[in-house]
Amino acid sequence: MNDYGISIWGDNNFIIKNSKLKIDYKSSPNIIKIVKSIRKKKIYGPLLLRFPHLIEKQIDLIYSLFKKSFKEMNYKGDFKAVFPLKVNHYPSFLKHLIKFGKKYNYGLEAGSKAELMLAMSLNTPPAPITVNGFKDKNMIHLCFLASKLQHDVTIIIEGISELQSIIEIAKNSKTIPNIGIRIRLHNSGEGTWAKSGGINSKFGLNATEIIQAMKFLKSHNLMAKFTMIHFHIGSLLNQIAPLKKALKEAGNIYGELIKMGAENLNSINIGGGLSIEHSQHKNLNQNYTTTEYVNDVVFMLKEIALAKNVKEPTIFIESGRFISAPHGILVTPVLELLSSEFKKSYLQLKAQNPPLIMELHSLYLDINSRNALEYLHDAIDHFESILTLFDLGYVDLIDRSNSEILFNLIFKKASLFVNNLHKRELKKIKNMLEERYLLNFSLFQSLPDYWGLGQKFPVMPLHKLNISANRSATLWDISCDSDGEIAFDKNAPLFLHDVDLNNEEYFLGFFLVGAYQDILGMNHNMFAKPTQAIIKIDKKGFKVKNIKKSPKVMKILNDLDYSKKEILNKLYSKIDNSKFPNLKKELNKFLSDSNYLKTTSK
Ligand SMILES: *Cc1c(COP(=O)(O)O)cnc(C)c1O
Repeated sequence: MNDYGISIWGDNNFIIKNSKLKIDYKSSPNIIKIVKSIRKKKIYGPLLLRFPHLIEKQIDLIYSLFKKSFKEMNYKGDFKAVFPLKVNHYPSFLKHLIKFGKKYNYGLEAGSKAELMLAMSLNTPPAPITVNGFKDKNMIHLCFLASKLQHDVTIIIEGISELQSIIEIAKNSKTIPNIGIRIRLHNSGEGTWAKSGGINSKFGLNATEIIQAMKFLKSHNLMAKFTMIHFHIGSLLNQIAPLKKALKEAGNIYGELIKMGAENLNSINIGGGLSIEHSQHKNLNQNYTTTEYVNDVVFMLKEIALAKNVKEPTIFIESGRFISAPHGILVTPVLELLSSEFKKSYLQLKAQNPPLIMELHSLYLDINSRNALEYLHDAIDHFESILTLFDLGYVDLIDRSNSEILFNLIFKKASLFVNNLHKRELKKIKNMLEERYLLNFSLFQSLPDYWGLGQKFPVMPLHKLNISANRSATLWDISCDSDGEIAFDKNAPLFLHDVDLNNEEYFLGFFLVGAYQDILGMNHNMFAKPTQAIIKIDKKGFKVKNIKKSPKVMKILNDLDYSKKEILNKLYSKIDNSKFPNLKKELNKFLSDSNYLKTTSK
């Protein structure tokens, strides 16, 4: 049985039981049951399910790991964490984060004025707020305002000019926020998002600028407010080595600055980047565990503090993906298997058929577990030859259709033998049995990191898990864009079931989509947010809460600045001038439809 690697990426959050994927928490509901309970309300299309218990789990885990590590290493500094709002700023996520983080004084990180305003409204002191990103004077002013409202705010400057604005505003303010400096490390991260660190990174002050900043702080009597240095070397860090180098570099800068007179410098903010294993196969993406990450951070900073003879710093983290990714699961109904159009009953064999068609026909009749691989190769050759013959005018459209049907039937029949095959042969055949699955979702809306960066997310069927899946799968979304495809990858193969969608429904889940995907998603083809719901699980079962339906067609147009009135007037006047004055009612029904497709009539 294929478990789709849940033991690798699933982090003990799932179990497979009675052929279904279940959430391994309290009453362990099966996901398909949750999906069906929502679809019963006549809600079709893709679903974004949020599981608050997985937000709680990640928060508890990170705090408990640091606590444990501090104890083991007798670390005397403090541990503080903030959640970067850019990773997921939706209320249906944040309200849970705030609730579960309260007992730890879990704070928020803001990178823009709007985010800062949100942080100020949601945050309860003494939970900290850190402010990153490029800031104008107004934004810095807002930080001062937050500080007056008792928030523990640290403005992390990205450049000297921001410090100059702080100095200016501080002249007229008794309450001054803490100041942090983002340092530009020469050690950078690795991977897709490595740009955030390194000597040429977009952010941070180099050594010369840091010294300049120290002079400014001193001469304007603000040194006492300088409490933090910060770095962020990239997201989804798959290797631990670059982080260790960065810690060493930052730790040394910390020690140096204290010696240079930064008497209140007490925190090192190591940014985000803590990874989550996304691989569904044995070769892991990530070369460290969360425990290892925590222990490395604590150990390195303790060692450097000792070597530099300074106090052990408060460790700040800004992990976003690690906290929020697991809670989101995207469920996509399968609309079609594209080869299912090739039914045997559609064959229109003639009294006289071209020899290659007859050969394909006998391949189809005679294929068995012993000859399958050879026959599949022959089928591919024959099919390609027929296409060439068609281009040259030697066979007609009916011949071409017959060859298409036979070719697909041969592949389907081969998939039945796959279980009896030798392992190596099996792999070759499985890869050849490619099927295209049309999924009711938009990749641009729901998995933008795949579209933009090729970031893969774990994906698997939510049911039929007792039946082996033999079709190598390419996934298509319903957008009219050829980029809306997750192609079959031989190195990370995905096998799905051969299902007859006339008789049964088939649902896939995409996992770890609770970070970034939500907020980066775009309305390409006007496919807007999928329907969202919060799933609360207790000992008795599950509850579906806060269903937020995918926007209706009229709402989507409205959000694009089209006036509803104008659109309706135009459409209605066309109806009035037509021979079908009764069409209004029918039209209205479509305007209040979701833009996603309604799967199967069932
Ligand atoms: C994006 C960002 C984070 C979050 O990174 P993750 O990889 O999601 O943990 C943290 N800090 C800063 C400054 C960021 O820009």
